[in-house]
Amino acid sequence: MDKSKALKKIKEEIIGLKDSPLYEERIKNNVFPVIGEGNHYAEIMFIGEAPGKNEALKGRPFCGSAGEKLNELLASINIDRKNVYITNIVKDRPPANRDPLPDEIRSYAPFLDRQINIICPSLIACLGRFSSHYILKKFGLENEIKPISVIRGKIFDANSDYGKIKIICLFHPASIIYDSRKKEILASDFQKIKKLIKK
Ligand code: URA
Repeated sequence: MDKSKALKKIKEEIIGLKDSPLYEERIKNNVFPVIGEGNHYAEIMFIGEAPGKNEALKGRPFCGSAGEKLNELLASINIDRKNVYITNIVKDRPPANRDPLPDEIRSYAPFLDRQINIICPSLIACLGRFSSHYILKKFGLENEIKPISVIRGKIFDANSDYGKIKIICLFHPASIIYDSRKKEILASDFQKIKKLIKK
């Protein structure tokens, strides 16, 4: 199956995911699940937490204020957003932007796992603690699971189903909006991404 078909199948399955803990919320609020967007052959895959209000209204990842920050950071390392793939672990918006619950992560993570194996990125960039912790665990790096302030900017080597990959954990772009210190740190961590893809 080609990548577009395989990703479309995931989209259809998520749209019909009536037993998801967030399905009722989606219907009640008349919003969309957010599957992911970008280049199906991307070298880098960015993984966030869950859609916010704007994302659920539009069905697109990172298209609100956190997305503006992500766009600026990508521009700062001359990467065109169209050339990366952007998604979240949780595909429906948790009410009032609360943190995703373990049960919600469990429901949606198998879709993320499939997306990774379809896109086959050589670098996974985790945005925030939820995606960082999930990805570290998934790739057998449980011992590295620490607060995001400790693991951010570190580059981990891992073996995926399709070969060797690198993982970088980052602050979530939403967390830098009112914190100039974190903003500087995230910007410098993006420079590490630039170096990694130049190799
Ligand atoms: N925050 C996320 O983690 N993902 C989005 O798509 C938007 C905001």
